[in-house]
Amino acid sequence: MFIDTHAHLTFPEFKIDLPEIIKRAKEANLEAIINIALDDEALANSLKIAQEYPGYVFTAYGLHPHDASTWKDEIADKIRSLAAEKKIVAVGEMGLDYHYKLSPLEKQKEVFGKSLRLAQELDLPAVIHSREAAKDTMLLIHEENQGKLKGVLHCFGGDMDLAKEALDMGLLISFTGNITFPKAHQVRAAAKEIPLDRIMIETDCPFLAPQAFRGKRNEPAYVVKVAEQIAAVKGISIEEVAAQTTKNARNLFKI
Ligand SMILES: [Zn+2]
Ligand SMILES: [Zn+2]
Repeated sequence: MFIDTHAHLTFPEFKIDLPEIIKRAKEANLEAIINIALDDEALANSLKIAQEYPGYVFTAYGLHPHDASTWKDEIADKIRSLAAEKKIVAVGEMGLDYHYKLSPLEKQKEVFGKSLRLAQELDLPAVIHSREAAKDTMLLIHEENQGKLKGVLHCFGGDMDLAKEALDMGLLISFTGNITFPKAHQVRAAAKEIPLDRIMIETDCPFLAPQAFRGKRNEPAYVVKVAEQIAAVKGISIEEVAAQTTKNARNLFKI
């Protein structure tokens, strides 16, 4: 059984056939999906989906670095009340994205810092997005970690040095379909070395479909392809990858 630990089911790409998507996820032996909501509307939709599929779809909520410039303190209040009502299982995704730079870097850092503090205050895991910003991401995590930080570096695209640093800080590493891309040698090399009890799997759908479906809409069922790739590089069975990554996800998100 698998858990897709990072999906965006409220994106317009899934508007028409979400029940089919969930059905295919169940047929592919997924036992849960963590849905990441990035704004008010996505949050409302995500909570609705979570209600329709209790114990199957869970919600995480946070401000994506792309939107850091829209931060307002009400977002923190909202996250606090959602946490009190046990409606979210994580804060995020949060982090830094220096690839698109859709929000000014200083603002991204400020909001990432606030989000890391909030996750610790609420004793929730942080779902961390870092693109072309490894150095500053790690710097901020070091600065803000009060010894209580837990979380995941999602959509891992770095090398083993970065992975080691994240692991040293107690974070988990999560792999997407990009581990199946022909050029992703470095990502596969990292996956080979990272202990299985620190790995999770995700789709980040609708983006990043695995190589077999590249260019198409991604969906939670395809997380199996990520598990297959990890099993292949580690030379272990997919059942072992499924069991351990599912256990890791259940522990981290307390589901
Ligand atoms: Zn992300
Ligand atoms: Zn995402």
